[in-house]
Amino acid sequence: SIGLNGVTRRFAGKTAVDRVTLDIPAGTFFVVVGPSGCGKSTLLRLIAGLERPDEGTISLNGARVAGPHLHVPPEDRSVGVVFQSYALWPHITVEGNVAFPLETAGMSGKAARLAAARHLETVALTALAARRPADLSGGQRQRVALARCLAQGARTILMDEPLANLDPHLRATMEEELAAFHRNSAATTLYITHDQHEAMALAGRIAVMWDGRILQSGPPEEVYARPATARVAGFIGKGA
Ligand code: ATP
Ligand code: MG
Repeated sequence: SIGLNGVTRRFAGKTAVDRVTLDIPAGTFFVVVGPSGCGKSTLLRLIAGLERPDEGTISLNGARVAGPHLHVPPEDRSVGVVFQSYALWPHITVEGNVAFPLETAGMSGKAARLAAARHLETVALTALAARRPADLSGGQRQRVALARCLAQGARTILMDEPLANLDPHLRATMEEELAAFHRNSAATTLYITHDQHEAMALAGRIAVMWDGRILQSGPPEEVYARPATARVAGFIGKGA
C-alpha cells in the first residue's frame, strides 16, 4: 500500500505538490492523470524517495518512509521505478540492464539472465538483447526500462509515462501486457500518464491531478460518469 498524508513539495516560487492525501490499497493499479506541469512526476519522485516533502508524511506497506526528520533512502524503499526519461546504464547491454539489478539483489547470474530473457520477450526486445542502450530508439529504451522494472518484482511499482514514446500499435500491445502483468502480480502500482484513454484502460482506481492538487479520485467509471468539478469533466469525464 502507498499512503500520503498532506504531502507538499515546493520549488522556488512554485508549489508542485500541494497537500496531497492518498490511500492506495495494496495490489491496486492506481493511475494519476493530469496535464503537463501539474506535479505528477514530483509526486512519483516523492514516493520513490528522490525528493523530500516539505510537509506531510509518506508510508509504504504500512511503514513510514518520509516525514519530519525521516527520509528512508530510495534503495531501502523496495520500489521499482520506470522514469519518464528512462535511466539505463549506457556501458552494458540491454540484457545486462535487466539482469544486473537482479544479481545485485542476490540472484545467481544464470537465473538473472533467464529472468531477463523472459521479460525482454514480454516487451518484444529479444532480438536486441546484446545491444547497448545508445543503439536503441527512444521507445526501445523505454521498453528496456519497463522490462527491468517488471523483472525486479518489487512490491511497489512506480511508472512515469512508460509508454509515452511508443507508436500506437506497440502502445496498445504494451497496455495489454501491463494489465496482464498486474493481474499476475500482487504489486501496488502507481501509474502516471496525461493520456485519458490510457488512464481509463488501465486504472483500477484513478486520480485527477491539477496544479499540485488531487481534484478527485475513485473508480474510473465513477469519475468518468460523475466528475466532481468542471475541470475533472473537461479532463476525464463524459465531456472530455
Ligand atoms: P509533465 O506531464 O510535463 O511531465 P508533471 O505533471 O510531471 O509534468 P512535474 O515535473 O511534477 O510535472 O512539475 C510540476 C511543477 O514543478 C512544474 O511547474 C515544474 O516546472 C516544477 N518543477 C519540477 N521540478 C522542479 C525543480 N527541480 N525545480 C524547480 N521547479 C520544478
Ligand atoms: Mg512528468
